[in-house]
Amino acid sequence: MTKSLIKNLSLSEVESLFRELGEKPYRAKQLFNWLYEKNIDSFSEMTNFSKELRKTLEDNYSISALALEERQISKIDDTEKYLFRTYDGNYIESVLIKNDTNEKERLTICISSQAGCAMGCRFCQTAKIGFKRNLETAEILDQINHVRRVSGLINNNIVFMGMGEPFLNYDNVLKAADIMNYSFGFHVSVRKITISTCGITDAIERFTDEKRAYNLAISVNDTDPDKRQKNMPVEKKFPVAGIIDLFERKFPISRNRLTIAYVMRKDNISESDAKRLKKIFRNARIKLNLIPLNPGVHKLDAPSQEEMDAFIKDLEIMNVPVSVRKTYGADIDGACGQLSGKHRLEDAP
Ligand code: SF4
Repeated sequence: MTKSLIKNLSLSEVESLFRELGEKPYRAKQLFNWLYEKNIDSFSEMTNFSKELRKTLEDNYSISALALEERQISKIDDTEKYLFRTYDGNYIESVLIKNDTNEKERLTICISSQAGCAMGCRFCQTAKIGFKRNLETAEILDQINHVRRVSGLINNNIVFMGMGEPFLNYDNVLKAADIMNYSFGFHVSVRKITISTCGITDAIERFTDEKRAYNLAISVNDTDPDKRQKNMPVEKKFPVAGIIDLFERKFPISRNRLTIAYVMRKDNISESDAKRLKKIFRNARIKLNLIPLNPGVHKLDAPSQEEMDAFIKDLEIMNVPVSVRKTYGADIDGACGQLSGKHRLEDAP
């Protein structure tokens, strides 16, 4: 790659660039408008820029950061899965979910923040790839550009729940989230952008201290440290006790909407699991999002519907605010924990 990726630049970086080029800094917002709202893929389309400026940009920058390799559409629920190739031959995936709510359709794009992942969660296909590298800001944003352009749909929700641990790529992820939020960027409300983490507590603390307003989802999955460590090796460095401590210290005062994600297995939905979960909800304003274990290459046992219903009932009796995540895109391996770019794994470096 010889040219730089223009979508790696923040608004202030584009303003500085334009100043250096002898252009008015307000043109930075115009550039953002072309790149994100109008979603163009060539500098020649920027008709309110002079020919010289277009040529300078064209000579030095690329707009597209990813090549679209494959689009699959679920026959069950119309969920769309996109496979992208990065400039250095890694594969990442994004999912467009058409959640039907009672009022109107909610369109969510689930995006990746890393190529592969180092966290090794047992229930997750991405873990099988291992860690390749952090995605650049442009590669995070370009997933949305491509999905909007190809599907012809404008999403109103974004979740960082695809491949990778977003908080191990903190700076690029937050830079991308800010551009998603700008009115001259993708213009998605902060309340509609959710960053998910497996519990990197020092980054969560940084996030709350910086008063970032995005929603936060923390993947807890076990309150028993031994069981958690077996299924989530991150427990060793960032124990669940530290996450609970953070809830009590930070979240009564934080403005973030906080969700605890909990993948239900056969062995983590007993009455005592429900009681330990209840303790987490003592002080903080948190919602519990239960996720049925999806099939994958893991050897974990999925609970029966009756077992899940009994667990939900236990939690409701204890006044834990609980919701159950519907599975989307099951027939195209687009559901939670199923992203792997597996069709191309054999080619990946
Ligand atoms: S669940 Fe998330 S953090 Fe865990 S291995 Fe998969 S992508 Fe990484």
